[in-house]
Amino acid sequence: MTIKNIQVELTDKTASLSADMQFKSGNNNRIYFSVDRKYGKFIVKDASPFLAVVLFSCMKISENITIEGSVSEKLLKSTQKIMNLVESWNMGMKKVNIKVKQAVKDTINKKNVALFFSGGVDSSYTYLKNKKEGKNKITHLITVHGFDVKLENNSLFNEAITPIMNFAKTEKVEIIVVRTNIRQITDRYVEWEDQCGSAMGAVCLALRNGLKEVYMSAGVELTAMRPVGSHPDLDPLWSTETLRVIHDGIERNRLEKVRYLSDSEKMLISLRVCWRNKKGSYNCCECEKCFRTMIMLEAVGALKKSKSFNKPINLSILRKLYVVKTHLRHFRHTLEELKNKKTNPELAEALEDCLRNNEQNKLLKEFVRKARLMIGKIDFKYNNGRLFYYLSNKGVI
Ligand SMILES: [Zn+2]
Repeated sequence: MTIKNIQVELTDKTASLSADMQFKSGNNNRIYFSVDRKYGKFIVKDASPFLAVVLFSCMKISENITIEGSVSEKLLKSTQKIMNLVESWNMGMKKVNIKVKQAVKDTINKKNVALFFSGGVDSSYTYLKNKKEGKNKITHLITVHGFDVKLENNSLFNEAITPIMNFAKTEKVEIIVVRTNIRQITDRYVEWEDQCGSAMGAVCLALRNGLKEVYMSAGVELTAMRPVGSHPDLDPLWSTETLRVIHDGIERNRLEKVRYLSDSEKMLISLRVCWRNKKGSYNCCECEKCFRTMIMLEAVGALKKSKSFNKPINLSILRKLYVVKTHLRHFRHTLEELKNKKTNPELAEALEDCLRNNEQNKLLKEFVRKARLMIGKIDFKYNNGRLFYYLSNKGVI
């Protein structure tokens, strides 16, 4: 594949960086990152972010990469480490050759510290934990339209960004909204869970003229670590000579993070974990991620003050809830907490039923899981995820 025609375009309102990504298979895309005009000076006109966008896709389909432009010298060296690491994880990705016109050292000194912020448990925790004054203060929150919320869905994104903007205002930090279409490429080849770290890496690299450090919040704690796209060994490798990428938060599991957040009313108000937009709701209170968070908030005694969850925990839905294998530990941790505290025995009982149901009929559940995964993959690869979003919106899944 070839990366070429890298351009920066400035309008009255926006600044964008774009490039053509031409695959041997004939798939051509113009990929862009777009920000408010005032962050135009953050943009670096080089191929580093685009290399981060396509690396895993190319490793998946064994296409070498030719870059008609320059990349950070440090990043280029790190791509060898990235490929070695990812190949060793046996995720169906093999090393490819990368041919670059020019490798250049980054030299611009910057002072801003940013954090990818969605309003969810992990990024809220990273913010609160690293909140400090002085030269290491988090100065910018980065929110991306095109990752969890589809680019076409402006209403959901506007709804999601409003509390984040209010939060940023009260905390006196700036918010950088990035619009990008990179999932148009990556969803075809790589699952989002494996791609998300390099996608955030790409955004940091696109804006690195203005950023000294960027935090990416850990979604998996150290004791449960597994090969995954955003990983403590992987994320820092998206750094350059003058940009440091930090993977933060592996020291606490999700329940411990929720407990940490529970003292902060401000963080609880903006807490958003649900991207399903089920019947247009902020947090639907009925999906696995909502349940996962609500039961934890209840276990630490903070559900009542968490205004962003506006329905009580529905115990009969919880009992029958399908939970993916890698998330069952969150439910076990919560059950343990509830049993120790003895504050809500009905919830503990429903949670026990839920865990029992998910641990029984393993063969059938594995078949259902694989079928869902396959339909999901086909939907995202060929249908731009329309089936998933349609069913979510109708409240079917
Ligand atoms: Zn939900």
